[in-house]
Amino acid sequence: MRRCFALILVTLVCAAVPAAQTEKLDYAAIAQIRDEGLNRSQVMETLFWLTDRYGPRLTGSPAMDEAGAWTMKKMTEWGLANVHREEWDFGRSWSLERFSAHLIAPQIQPLIGFPKTWSPGTDGAVTADVVRAPIASEADFAKYHGQLKGKIVLAQPARAVRMLEGPFIVRMDGELAKEAETTPVPAQRGRGGRGAGAAADETADQPGGGRGQAQQFQAKLQQFFKDEGVIAVFDRGSDSDTAGMGSNLSVNQQHPDGGTVFPGTVNRTAAAAVPQVTLAVEHYNRMVRLLEHDVPVRVELDVRVRFHENTKGFNIVGEIPGTDLTSEVVMLGAHFDSHPFATGATDNATGSTAMLEALRIIKTLGLKPRRTIRVALWGGEEQGLLGSRAYATAHFADVQSMQLKPEHAKLAAYFNLDNGTGKIRGIWMQSNLAVRPIFEQWIAPLKDLGVTILAPRSVSQTDHVSFDNVGLPGFQFVQDRLEYNARSHHSNMDTYDRVQRDDLVQQATIAAIFAYDAAMRDEKLPRKALPAPQRGGRQQDANERSE
Ligand SMILES: [Zn+2]
Repeated sequence: MRRCFALILVTLVCAAVPAAQTEKLDYAAIAQIRDEGLNRSQVMETLFWLTDRYGPRLTGSPAMDEAGAWTMKKMTEWGLANVHREEWDFGRSWSLERFSAHLIAPQIQPLIGFPKTWSPGTDGAVTADVVRAPIASEADFAKYHGQLKGKIVLAQPARAVRMLEGPFIVRMDGELAKEAETTPVPAQRGRGGRGAGAAADETADQPGGGRGQAQQFQAKLQQFFKDEGVIAVFDRGSDSDTAGMGSNLSVNQQHPDGGTVFPGTVNRTAAAAVPQVTLAVEHYNRMVRLLEHDVPVRVELDVRVRFHENTKGFNIVGEIPGTDLTSEVVMLGAHFDSHPFATGATDNATGSTAMLEALRIIKTLGLKPRRTIRVALWGGEEQGLLGSRAYATAHFADVQSMQLKPEHAKLAAYFNLDNGTGKIRGIWMQSNLAVRPIFEQWIAPLKDLGVTILAPRSVSQTDHVSFDNVGLPGFQFVQDRLEYNARSHHSNMDTYDRVQRDDLVQQATIAAIFAYDAAMRDEKLPRKALPAPQRGGRQQDANERSE
């Protein structure tokens, strides 16, 4: 009796709620992908070439070209089809040819530092007195007028250096995982609160990287230094080593100390100002204290750079052609470019390597996906998602007009990797409610590999946004960020050694399975409503923070 009653109840419930469609997963293929990806991974070999050999990969620089050429050769060797570059106008690029800085007085000390991107060079090696000029507003210009000629300027006050405490390694476990699975109510408009996209919505906190008024003041300050005949300007990076601490998903707990610097960039298109170098805070602070004690400080500085004008940026594209649905496309992507301060290992050689490896795995196994699986490695992400935006405009739709091109109807899904070396823990669903029942089934056979999180909200600041902006289903994977924020992201320590091999192996395997699942299902992934013209087209400006 009781069993019958229960059956009746179940029947009633089932009649009321339509069952989610069952995904017809190809478990045999998934098992093969796991075997090839986990047991015969080539990620560390690919990573070596992209980092130690060819990094850094600043868009428009000769090194970027070389890295691109190596990668396309490799893709061809692996048997990928239609391997090619798609170019777009980038403009001015930059490369560093030499940098050294030494404290000469009161004692010799090699200084740890790095010129900001697009900094001009010095006139060979120069030795100059160092002075403090912490100019906070235009009103301070008069105070320093006529006093800075031929000097090296310390532009910021000292910053307290704390020993390392608090969360340094970020894993998507416990509270953090729970938070990712919720959607915060957006703050009231006009109150300066954090919005729904807050997960990755940090603002730049590098000197010169602010917005609006702060940016205008920086431009005036640089002009002032130039007019006054300043030799170079030193800074020690952001004002805080705990920015965002405790805000969990939006953690930005940079630790700009212990020899790690996050130099940032000079405005790329503005008339070049004076050479600008970010120094290790400990070395910077020493000079500030010496000057406070009226001990003269002299520095020998050599910054040699080369500007490259009217360069082309490029994206690298290659694919595995589909079978019965070959005109439809599943895309995997990651940005290939990097900042110049190290070899761009976790940002984003890891993402590029994992996506390349995903295609290698599928190709090597001889699997026959129904849809075409295409990898795209973007240039210009760090200057405002330039490569992926150019691709979206050329192939899908211009955000300004939202006139859809034929390929718009053919894209099944786009998946992006750009949060460093940590393993994939789930996926940001980009507020696309219809994908949840699908992804729930896709991650079921991946839970043993740590993939458990379905995060509803939208995240920004990397290349899936270019797809989302034109109404295409673009997604960024949820990753363990590990040391990404604290240590490697946009720093001089973004090197091969910071990459966690096992996690990168996992990334490639999971990306391959997502691509394969998307290529094999009967329908393309569901989409959100099309955005209105321009509405989705807010252009990320060059000084806005990119992942
Ligand atoms: Zn990145």
